[in-house]
Amino acid sequence: MSQSGARGRLAPVSITFVASLGARLRDLELRTRPEHPDLTAALARRWEELPAHVKTRNQMLGRRTAGCEGTHGVFPRCNLACTPCYHSREANRVRTDGEHTVREVERQMAYLRAERGPGQNAQLIGGEVTLLEADDHAGALQAMIDHGRKPMSLSHGDFDYDYLQALALDPATGKPRFRHLSFAGHFDSMMYGRRGIKAPESEPALNPYRARFCEMFARLEREHGVTHYLAHNMTVTPANVDQVPQVIRDCREMGFRMFSFQPAAFIAAGCVRWRVSAPRLSPTSCTRSWMPTRSSPPGSCCAAASCRMSSRSARPRNACRPARTPWRIPTRTSSSPRAPSTRCSTPRRTCDCRSGCRSCSCR
Ligand code: SF4
Repeated sequence: MSQSGARGRLAPVSITFVASLGARLRDLELRTRPEHPDLTAALARRWEELPAHVKTRNQMLGRRTAGCEGTHGVFPRCNLACTPCYHSREANRVRTDGEHTVREVERQMAYLRAERGPGQNAQLIGGEVTLLEADDHAGALQAMIDHGRKPMSLSHGDFDYDYLQALALDPATGKPRFRHLSFAGHFDSMMYGRRGIKAPESEPALNPYRARFCEMFARLEREHGVTHYLAHNMTVTPANVDQVPQVIRDCREMGFRMFSFQPAAFIAAGCVRWRVSAPRLSPTSCTRSWMPTRSSPPGSCCAAASCRMSSRSARPRNACRPARTPWRIPTRTSSSPRAPSTRCSTPRRTCDCRSGCRSCSCR
């Protein structure tokens, strides 16, 4: 065989090999950069969009992250009923099957990847995702991963270990299809219909259910090596805001790695399902007076640097007092979206009625 003949046959193979090697090296170089150039560009755009007054030294938007991401309107189906739920009346009546869900998640994630670069956290959210078949849920998570997202499933946590196992394991091989799962467990006392506790009377009443949720993931890791990141989501309204510290005290060792408290917005089905009015949680009110530390003895002030109460009232920082009267949450009906107007004559800054009255002089 002549040399030229050998070169003629080997040349195409070599070109393909070199091209493939070059592509893999370029990919490796991109992957090992501290930041993907697409993300750098997305962050720069986000920073430009921010108003000037929020471009502070501590601002993470536009620097570390482009902001929160989540699926939108893909799967509005749920088997619980929460009073501040944002679902519209059409929820549970639209298409929520697995094929539709995976396709729409795929479409939305492709858009987010193009607009916001790779490596962003994104929630699989919009309804109760564990009502999806485990394989469809896994398909949605995989679509998010394929588009460079770090997915987290938002769930009310009212599912069983068998479901979690089916989600984590490949049905064909029985081996893990995900090495890691992130879940946000939504627990609060305004959720109705949970198995075993249809109508929780308080936040502590849900603690066994929070612990059970964490234990399922601990078991999955023990049995199959699938690691997890768990967040705890709690919707906060005037009905439970005073229980937030107790939730932290009770649940901090359960296995959650983040606690998020979401003030509920007065939107969506709120006019029907929102039952309490918002009290004045004004920055001039000492938090000690509305946190569940009312029973704390006088003088046990938190002395927080942000406290404006002591300086305005010319009292020493360690002298803020617990509220003199328990905080009563007024009942609200759909026909009276605000608390009834009552005249309060208590001098400014000393009123602790917390009634949310409209004409109180301390408003
Ligand atoms: S668990 Fe979530 S989706 Fe379901 S009713 Fe509550 S807030 Fe709505």
